[in-house]
Amino acid sequence: MTAKETKYDIVIVGAGVGGICAALAAARLRRSVLLVEEMKEIGGTGVHSAVSLICMFRDKNGRPINNGIHRELFPQAYTVGKGLFDVEETVPTYDEKELKEKYEALLKAEPLIAVWTDCKVTGVVTETDKIVSITVAPGEGEPVSVNGDFFLDATADGNLSAMAGAEFQIGREEDGKLQTATVTFKMTGFDPSKLQNSRIATWGGIRSLRQELTVHYKQLKEEGGTRNPRPSVLCFPYPDGRGILFNSTAVTDVDPTSAESVAAGMREGTEQALQLAEAVKRHPAFAEAEVEFVAPKLGVREGRRVIGDYVLTADDCLNARKFDDMVAACAYSLDIHDPLGGGAKLVKIGDPGYYHIPYRALIAKGRKNLLLSSRCISGTHEAHSSYRVMSGVSAIGEAAGTAAALAVWSKANDARDVSAARIRYVLQAGGQFVEGDVEKVTLK
Ligand SMILES: Cc1cc2nc3c(=O)[nH]c(=O)nc-3n(C[C@H](O)[C@H](O)[C@H](O)COP(=O)(O)OP(=O)(O)OC[C@H]3O[C@@H](n4cnc5c(N)ncnc54)[C@H](O)[C@@H]3O)c2cc1C
Repeated sequence: MTAKETKYDIVIVGAGVGGICAALAAARLRRSVLLVEEMKEIGGTGVHSAVSLICMFRDKNGRPINNGIHRELFPQAYTVGKGLFDVEETVPTYDEKELKEKYEALLKAEPLIAVWTDCKVTGVVTETDKIVSITVAPGEGEPVSVNGDFFLDATADGNLSAMAGAEFQIGREEDGKLQTATVTFKMTGFDPSKLQNSRIATWGGIRSLRQELTVHYKQLKEEGGTRNPRPSVLCFPYPDGRGILFNSTAVTDVDPTSAESVAAGMREGTEQALQLAEAVKRHPAFAEAEVEFVAPKLGVREGRRVIGDYVLTADDCLNARKFDDMVAACAYSLDIHDPLGGGAKLVKIGDPGYYHIPYRALIAKGRKNLLLSSRCISGTHEAHSSYRVMSGVSAIGEAAGTAAALAVWSKANDARDVSAARIRYVLQAGGQFVEGDVEKVTLK
């Protein structure tokens, strides 16, 4: 813990990309923020599950539609390529250790943010349609009760909202199944000169590498050497070109709301990872390669989707729908990792290549001071498969933190009393991409 106060203007639960962007946005508007994280270290999925790719954040013409804090986190991606996936274009990726350091530096620069790690939120006190306080259980010591004016659910799986009794959905409509979970891992020490295309930092090079490695992976499957249901190898280059991140294991039927199910998923995913690494080492370029690390946290793609004042749909995404109350935008395809394990299916966003995320999808239905600030915003299973990536979630977090700070500044009783035009005014001033009218805000 870094502070002992038990009242903050804004309380954010979950220190992944959504929670961190929200905390930064709110504190930069001079409101006091508590960021609570159950793990011993901040970073969430993007750090501890090591995901690598800086997913598409540009429209069809190459114009970035997630600037703002996303650009502070991943400046390198704004200078490489135009997201055309051309064979010669550099694959925009990041190193999870560097991202964690960036998060820490940005949070440290804000004196109004208190970060409590190794602290799990275990309970919520509500009064009719508002959260009054949360119970925070530290790894060691007594639980603490913390009050706030506005609360943000940045837990990815909607854990805070569920504790607050908010409505949610989970899984796809037909059978409740979720996208597969993955244990990623990194390999180093390979020899690119032994590859058909040694330029693995480009799209052409990494695609060629995947094909070469899939031959050995298929052989492993034919031998019965793995239960991994994926049909092929998916991997990405590290920015320095010396490491490869394998995002290529697939665990079905993980229930993210059950600790036992997540632990079992981690065991299965780790086994698949080590089996795949052995298959990769059959390629002459990888004969001397080593597994540098296996991600310490199971990568869970999907959990609860909290019902908000609007439910974003696949049609909204694919038809590049615009909303009057937009507060964020997303350009990433629908990307569903088959719940039965059959690989990923990508469907591109229609022209001009991005859609709006409305403020209403960030407000938990029937709750006045609960905002959604991670991949648990209000949307269908299909829509979620798009905005769940870090470009989408960083914009969602920045918008949620800004909305909460404006709500506190204006002493609003309800998040709905803050207009999207005001949120956009502030977001735009911070460099974020917005569309629609803006309404000037003076903070005194
Ligand atoms: C295997 C995999 C590969 C992916 N690949 C990519 C990719 O290449 N590019 C990309 O952009 N995106 C990718 N994604 C998606 C993306 O990484 C995540 O959707 C995104 O990082 C989620 O951010 P978040 O802030 O919503 O949640 P998280 O980063 O998961 O953060 C939620 C945090 O809340 C904490 N928390 C939960 N409950 C509590 C509680 N009760 N008390 C306190 N803390 C709590 C958790 O410990 C966690 O740190 C991938 C995801 C997976 C799983």
